[in-house]
Amino acid sequence: MGETPYFVELDEALEICRSTTIQTVVERVDLDNCHNRILAVDLPSLVDDPPFDNSAMDGFAMRYEDTLEPPSTLEVIGTIQAAGQEDDLVVSPGQAVRIMTGAPIPKGANSILQVELTSSEGNTVTLSQASMKHFIRKKGENLTKGQVALKSGTHLTPSRVGLCATMGHSSIPVVQKLKVGIISTGDELKQPGEELARGEIYESNSFGLFGLVNWLGHDATRLHCVGDTIDDLREVLNQASTNFDLILTSGGVSMGDWDLVRKIMEEEGDLHFWRVKLRPGSPPLFGLWNNTPIFGLPGNPVSSHVVFRMLVAPWIRHTTQASGPIEPRVYAKLATSVKPTKDCLTLRRVSLVNENGELTAHQNIHQGSGNLASVAMSEGMVVLQPGCEYSIGDTVEVMIL
Ligand code: AMP
Ligand code: MG
Repeated sequence: MGETPYFVELDEALEICRSTTIQTVVERVDLDNCHNRILAVDLPSLVDDPPFDNSAMDGFAMRYEDTLEPPSTLEVIGTIQAAGQEDDLVVSPGQAVRIMTGAPIPKGANSILQVELTSSEGNTVTLSQASMKHFIRKKGENLTKGQVALKSGTHLTPSRVGLCATMGHSSIPVVQKLKVGIISTGDELKQPGEELARGEIYESNSFGLFGLVNWLGHDATRLHCVGDTIDDLREVLNQASTNFDLILTSGGVSMGDWDLVRKIMEEEGDLHFWRVKLRPGSPPLFGLWNNTPIFGLPGNPVSSHVVFRMLVAPWIRHTTQASGPIEPRVYAKLATSVKPTKDCLTLRRVSLVNENGELTAHQNIHQGSGNLASVAMSEGMVVLQPGCEYSIGDTVEVMIL
């Protein structure tokens, strides 16, 4: 292996990856197209939210002082349905205005009573109890003009896109999507839908990795699978390095003679590390092919998924300066025994159950690194530190899947 760091701790692998970055570009997109993107600036509100004092209820607006001895009957002098209407209404002692949710509070009024607690007759309204000041939503109580509500690097979830609109932005600067090329390697791989011959299996890694890249807000392309020949692999890597910002391969990174991704990276690429103390997922590599960053992910489907979550996703967030989306972590009590390993950070797939108000983790599915169902049918992965002992009843950290 020469100088290339070998079988490194996960943190060391991340550190090595972080010294390689991709120059990101900022582009302005309209709100319809910014879902799941990464905000590229600190975004200030262009307005106060709400922009004016308004009613939180359908009901009546009046002077609080006129309602302290219920039932109280007040004269109704008008109706306010929406912004701008009846702007000249002034509520004087003994008077009320009919008001809709969100409508501006008329001058003179300082409280609201919801319609359910009133009865109307002619141009009067009788209140069954005192009115409420807190049903007035105050100007700027959510956000004040100029306040930065969303920081640069924020992952734009639906509520955050809505908030951009609330703040008055019709378009916003976001990080241009990275173009990620996904290459599966292996003579035995067939596309789903085709007939399997003896010894063949369906190619699944590229589909999962495609989804994971999209989940992070970037642009994935599944390139065709390459068989286990160095020349084909070299050709597809050369093409990918001219067309993509990042290359992900799967398969061919273990110790065997057929592990050609590892071999070609050792002999012709710029290899930054190979193998990580992570189970499942110990064989990955990282480096550059023609100056394009490349992660060589393991072929086993659970391993490729785990390595993406533990290594590729943190690095993509780092290089795009994104704070999300992240793998949320919770704490749960072990309900079944789980097996750590001596020298690797180990992830066991578990279902999470709420038992009497306590979150419990159950390992009840075969943990083979070829068993993708163990990821797909589980809620989380228990994070087990190398060399530690774990017993039923212990509280453990769980990464949500
Ligand atoms: P490899 O690292 O190439 O030896 O692959 C390890 C295991 O993962 C083998 O059983 C492969 O058949 C399987 N495998 C490799 N690539 C894929 C893929 N793209 N989809 C599903 N299984 C794969
Ligand atoms: Mg293979």
